[in-house]
Amino acid sequence: MKMDFHCHTTASDGALSPQQLIDLAHKYEVKCLAITDHDTTAGYESALKYAAQNNIQLISGVEISCEWRGTTIHIVGLDVDVTHTMLQEGLAGIRVTRWKRAHEMIAKLNARNGFNVEGLTSKIENMVGEGVVGRGHFAQLLIEERLVKDAGQAFDRYLKKGRVGYVTQEWPPLATVVEWITQAGGVAVIAHPKVYKMTSRKLNALIEDFKHAGGQAIEVVNQPRHSADITGMADRANAHGLYASIGSDFHRPEHNWRGLGWLAPLPDKVKPVWTLFKEPPLMALNTV
Ligand code: MN
Ligand code: MN
Ligand code: MN
Repeated sequence: MKMDFHCHTTASDGALSPQQLIDLAHKYEVKCLAITDHDTTAGYESALKYAAQNNIQLISGVEISCEWRGTTIHIVGLDVDVTHTMLQEGLAGIRVTRWKRAHEMIAKLNARNGFNVEGLTSKIENMVGEGVVGRGHFAQLLIEERLVKDAGQAFDRYLKKGRVGYVTQEWPPLATVVEWITQAGGVAVIAHPKVYKMTSRKLNALIEDFKHAGGQAIEVVNQPRHSADITGMADRANAHGLYASIGSDFHRPEHNWRGLGWLAPLPDKVKPVWTLFKEPPLMALNTV
């Protein structure tokens, strides 16, 4: 049975509304799903009833940005109590600083000679709506304004460190974010560990600090096909006593390299993260 514990909706930087995401999960036969929007649980909350109507087990989730030794790390929180005050106050604080950064980015872009997007502020605000603003929205707007052809180019030319639209953002420390998640009864997961391009030694150091803070799991499967990366990350999870998670990081249908639930199965030798959930996926228990 298909599971996916990492994806986004319009509540953060995804293209599909929570309902549309559930429709897609239904179409692809994803039976157990966690919506993990950046720094908000609003998408999960608004999809809960509709997921149940569609026979999809929806696990609460969130993806939180944090800082560890000068690097931005993403921690996914699964099976959290979304009413927990410490967690929600932490997320609200991050959303405030995200808007502050976005407005500084707009000011820098507007001040750049030759950069001419009329009404940039209102365009970004309209695009984000009730969601959580991020650099992905800027990339999308630059594509729509035909200033770049894709998100990679948007980051290379405008948004990455050293470019005109770059503004540093201070994220809460790793240990703080892990604490929000565990205090809210959830499981903290290191998201997409390959993305940080760390040396093996540095990744081990991250894992040890993460475990020390109360973290329990790491994403072992992020891709549709089995690979040496998966085997390597499974071995690493086991070596550190971490549970293994699986998630596509789905954002939008036109990103055809990461479809919702298009994931290689978790290797047999790992401890699946869902065994920690308060209500483990029933179908998984039947098939494993
Ligand atoms: Mn994103
Ligand atoms: Mn991420
Ligand atoms: Mn993500």
